[in-house]
Amino acid sequence: MSDAYTKLLAELKEIATLGSIGALVGWDEQVMLKPGGTEFRAQQGSLLARMTHERFTSKSIGDLLAAAESNASSTEPTPDRPVVLRELRRDYDRATKLPSSLVEQLAHTTTLAQAAWVEARKKSDFPHFAPWLTKVLDLKRQEAACLGSKSGHPYDALLGGYEPGETIESLNKVFAAMKPRLVALIERVAGSGKKAPIEILERHYPAAAQEKLAREAAVAIGFDDNAGRLDVSVHPFCSGIAPGDTRITTRYDERFFGDAFFGTLHETGHAMYEQGLPKQTHLGTALADATGLGIHESQSRMWENLVGRSRPFWNHFLLKAKSTFTPLLDDVSMDDWMFAVNDVRPSFIRTEADEATYNLHILLRFEIEQQMLTGDLNVADIPAAWNASFKRYFGLDVPDDSKGCMQDVHWSAGLIGYFPTYSLGNMYAAQFFDAAKRALPNLDDMLSKGRFDGLLAWLRSNIHMHGRRFTGRELVKRITGEDLSPNALLTHLESKAHEYYGA
Ligand code: ZN
Repeated sequence: MSDAYTKLLAELKEIATLGSIGALVGWDEQVMLKPGGTEFRAQQGSLLARMTHERFTSKSIGDLLAAAESNASSTEPTPDRPVVLRELRRDYDRATKLPSSLVEQLAHTTTLAQAAWVEARKKSDFPHFAPWLTKVLDLKRQEAACLGSKSGHPYDALLGGYEPGETIESLNKVFAAMKPRLVALIERVAGSGKKAPIEILERHYPAAAQEKLAREAAVAIGFDDNAGRLDVSVHPFCSGIAPGDTRITTRYDERFFGDAFFGTLHETGHAMYEQGLPKQTHLGTALADATGLGIHESQSRMWENLVGRSRPFWNHFLLKAKSTFTPLLDDVSMDDWMFAVNDVRPSFIRTEADEATYNLHILLRFEIEQQMLTGDLNVADIPAAWNASFKRYFGLDVPDDSKGCMQDVHWSAGLIGYFPTYSLGNMYAAQFFDAAKRALPNLDDMLSKGRFDGLLAWLRSNIHMHGRRFTGRELVKRITGEDLSPNALLTHLESKAHEYYGA
C-alpha cells in the first residue's frame, strides 16, 4: 500500500498535467487565436484555471500533505522530500487563501483585458483600456487582501507570488544601491559626445533571414529544438508548457536587427532554464519549478546581454550574420558592430532598451504600480504620472501612451509586482556570469569558437537542476559566496561604458 507521500506525488502530477493544458491554451491564445475566438477562450481558460485551483486546494491534498509531513521521519527520507513538502506547504497555504471564484474571475477578466489592451495599444487609446485596468486592479486588491503580508502592504502580498521572500523594503535596499551609480553612468555616456553607429542595425533586415539567424543562434547556444518551438507573437514570451515542450516567441521588425535577435537570445535563455529543470522526474513538485522570476530572468539576461553582446560571441556570429544578410553588412567592421549592439541611450520602450537604461524603466514601473495598487494613483491619472516620471528619469517627452504606460502586457494580464524581478534578473545574471568566468577560465575562447555547451552545463549543474531547492538569494550566496548586490552589474556596465564611450 502506498503511503501518503506517494499518493500526494501522483495527485500533484495530475494537477500539473491539468495546468499544462491551461498553459497550452494560453500559448494558443497569444500565438494562434483570431479575435473572434477571444470571448470563448476566456471561458476555456477560466474553467481550466478553476479546475486546477479547486483540485490543488482540495481537502484531500491538505490531508495527504499533513499526513506526509507527520510521517516525515518514519519512512526512508530522500534529500528531495523535505524540499517538496516545504514548498508544497507554502504553495498550498497561499492557494487556499484564494477563493476559486476569485481565481476564475481573474482568469476571465485578464483574458478580456489583454484583448482590450492589444486593441487600445494599437490606437494608443488609454481611455479604452482604463475600465479594464480598473477591473484588474480591483481583483488584484482582493487577491492581495486574501493573501496578506507581514508589512500589510498589498504590493508585498503580490510580490511574494513572483519572488518569495522579497518585499518593497528588501528591494528598496538593492535599488537604492543601484540608482545613483546607474544614473551617473547614463549621464556620463550622454555627456561623452560619442554616438554608437546604430544606423547599421536599422538597415533593411528581411524577416525570413532574421528568423533563420535567430533560429540558428537559439539552437547554437543550446535550445533543444526537438523539445520546443519558436513562433511569432505581439509580446515575446517563453512558456515551459510541459516536459519536452518549451515554447518561445519573438517578433520581427524589418527595420531593426536587435528586436528579434536579442529577443530570441533572451527567450532562449528562459527556455533553456525550463528545459534544464528536472520535469520528467519531478513534475508537479517544486523540484520541477523555477525558483522565482528573478532567477528565471537571470538566465535570459545572461544569454541576451552578457553573452550575446560580448565580443567573443560576435567573433563567432558576425560572420554568420554577414552571410545571412549578404551584402547588407559587407562594409561593417567588428568594432562598429560591437559599438552598435552596445549602444546606451534613453528610449521609450522597455523591451528595446539597452542594458543600462533598462533598469531605470523598471524603477519607474516599481514606483508607479505600488501607488496604482493602493489607489494613491487613480487609473485615469496613470498616463500623466508615467510621463512625468519618464521625463524625470530619461529627460524625454512621451509622445503617446502606446510608447508610454500602455506598452507592456503585464498590467492587463494581472501581473502586478512582476516588474522588479527583471532588475533582480540583471543583478543575478552579472553575479553568476562572474562566477562562471572564474569556474571556466577559457570561457571567452569557447564562446569565440561558438562553443556554448560549457557555460550551459555550468548553469545546468549550479542552477537549473535544483528547481526550487534554493531561493534566488540562497543560490547567489552558494554560487558566488556573496549576497544579492547590484555591484557586479554596475561594474560590468561601467567597464562597457568606458570601452565604448570613454565614459
Ligand atoms: Zn524575460
